Amino acid sequence: MKSFKPKFEYTSKTTGGQPLRLIPLGGVGDVTKNMYAYEYGNHIIIIDCGVSFPDDDMRGVDLVIPDINYLRDKKQNIRGIIITHGHDDHYGALPYIWPELGVPIYSQKLTCGLIRAKLADNKVPTDRVKELKIDDTLTLGVFKLSFYQVSHSVPDSTGIVIETPVGTIIHQSDFKIDWSPVNGQVTDVGRVAELGNKGVLLMTIDCLRSDRPGYTSSEKNIEPEFEAIAKQTTGKLVFTLITSNITRIQQALNVAAKMGRKVCFVGRSMENNTQVARELGYLDIPSGIVIAQEELKRFAPNKLMVIMSGAFGQPGSALMRAANGEHKHVQILKNDTVVVSADPMPSAEMSQGVLIDNLSRIGCRLYYSASDSALHVSGHAAAEEIKLMISLAKPKFLMPIGGGFKQIRAFGLLAADLGYEENEIITLTEVQPVEITSDKLKILPPIPYQNVYVDGLGVGDVGSVVLRDREHMSEEGVVVVVLPVDTQNGKLAGQPDIISRGFVFGPDETDLMGAALEIVKSLFMEHKGGRLDVRYARHEVEKHLEKFFFQETKRKPLILTVVMEA
Ligand SMILES: [Zn+2]
Repeated sequence: MKSFKPKFEYTSKTTGGQPLRLIPLGGVGDVTKNMYAYEYGNHIIIIDCGVSFPDDDMRGVDLVIPDINYLRDKKQNIRGIIITHGHDDHYGALPYIWPELGVPIYSQKLTCGLIRAKLADNKVPTDRVKELKIDDTLTLGVFKLSFYQVSHSVPDSTGIVIETPVGTIIHQSDFKIDWSPVNGQVTDVGRVAELGNKGVLLMTIDCLRSDRPGYTSSEKNIEPEFEAIAKQTTGKLVFTLITSNITRIQQALNVAAKMGRKVCFVGRSMENNTQVARELGYLDIPSGIVIAQEELKRFAPNKLMVIMSGAFGQPGSALMRAANGEHKHVQILKNDTVVVSADPMPSAEMSQGVLIDNLSRIGCRLYYSASDSALHVSGHAAAEEIKLMISLAKPKFLMPIGGGFKQIRAFGLLAADLGYEENEIITLTEVQPVEITSDKLKILPPIPYQNVYVDGLGVGDVGSVVLRDREHMSEEGVVVVVLPVDTQNGKLAGQPDIISRGFVFGPDETDLMGAALEIVKSLFMEHKGGRLDVRYARHEVEKHLEKFFFQETKRKPLILTVVMEA
């Protein structure tokens, strides 16, 4: 059914025949690790620089970052990096990628605060982070940029307008259309319509929920759900959610204030993000309501709300440790209630499943979005909202971003409904540069691309980070730890075995491996008994051995732990 075809005359301002290139450096068909380069002659700008979270089979890997190989011999052409909003899958790779590029980073106030905190946490200088206001314009080489506000699950999210020699591009990263957003930031559809009337060449647009019909509901609907749960809770109330979801944290705070509960933020990224948001005025925290972790024991459980990081069950995260009975300050008891208010990305479904399982074993009251859909509202536009944006912008060409292949396909159907022809929609299956002139599109052959892994201590609660790609791993060697474990009681069921290849040689090897064996054994001695979470055990073993090997040899072999369940 073709019900709508945008009608407009597109006129190019300049010609000259040189095309603009768009290169999706975060990969294609990847929901996360957003990174796009726009290149015209020797002018390059980069939009976003995000991380992705590894699949379960990427052992020992904490993060995956974009491959910037395409940029390596063009670094001098890069004019700046612009970040659309403060989500890790849009700025989380900056600590690893920025040091190599060294160019200014531009974004809005809250996003800049979050970026600075993350860079500082990784000991990366923050002086090139430049704060913009929503109505500022920015000229970077031949590109003239302006911004407009959009609703999303973190304040200060933006759409980016890029005026280029071949025409106007709208880079519409994550957004939704929420007329009653918690933070008052409504998507500026007026601006988009205005741009549409002047003529838009290309719109790249968030397609994550293009396969969901209708509209995404308002974030405001969450608070009454939280409140209803809080009223029924006789013990501690534990909330977990994505730590950048500042608007939802505000709603949890509102509930705590109403119910007379003290609030404690737990987990490194939760503490960092809420501190930044509070300092910059994006969180309204009633005075005296927040307490330190050490103070938790001073209050009765029914006077406490704990807001924790680890909603996806990341190994080593605060909530995962609490669920395993191994957090220093937070114990989760049968009488407590845990609310998991976050839908996992596909790659995190399994680890969130482990978290839910471990919490269920404790027997506490548990609410999570898969069991109660009212507990989570997406920050992304569904089909009708996407159609509205496209109809207002009336771009000549469209490119879905931030979705998997399923959503890219759904987006194609939705755009066809609006009257777009197949050759007007850029759907890539590999990392291919796209060349655009004022009236033509050309998709170039794929460029070499591989995922780059960051492993070591990047995600959890420890600061130092080891960056390495596969080549590096082969240089540093491999250590395999074979652990026979009785998962019922969490004890070793036999002698662990440690095998190394390409790491250390000669007489030192026996001593080093002997000492490593003792470390592994002592970790199991510390386990208090009860069922063992295998993922967590693996994470702990790898973390401690990595530290030990580095101390002894100044090398970081890849450590693989194989758990044999007895
Ligand atoms: Zn986002």
